Amino acid sequence: MSSKSKSKTTRRQFLNRATVIAAGLPVPALLGWTLPARAQDLPHLSEDDPTAVALKYTHDASTTEERASATDVCNNCQHYTGGAGSEWGPCALFPGKQVNAKGWCSVWVEKAG
Ligand code: SF4
Repeated sequence: MSSKSKSKTTRRQFLNRATVIAAGLPVPALLGWTLPARAQDLPHLSEDDPTAVALKYTHDASTTEERASATDVCNNCQHYTGGAGSEWGPCALFPGKQVNAKGWCSVWVEKAG
């Protein structure tokens, strides 16, 4: 057996093993991707968060007298992206956190459309 054929056999064995290993891994792991956290898995925003305090955020909009209208809540704010009927959801102003659908802050803007 020549050294060239030994090399081919070794390469073939390596490729076979690599194929077996790769077949057992999910595609995102093979590509080094991490999946984004699902919105419902994000932690709830704390009312003590410095930005939340600065924007007068509250989990319960009925506890503040700062709102222009008693109907202004996170759920109907332009920045809220939680699903219909969800108790908590993401807000563009607090990335990586969820705000309460019945919450409010001083940046509230009526949802378009
Ligand atoms: Fe709620 Fe809108 Fe303030 Fe976000 S910007 S916390 S959705 S009122």
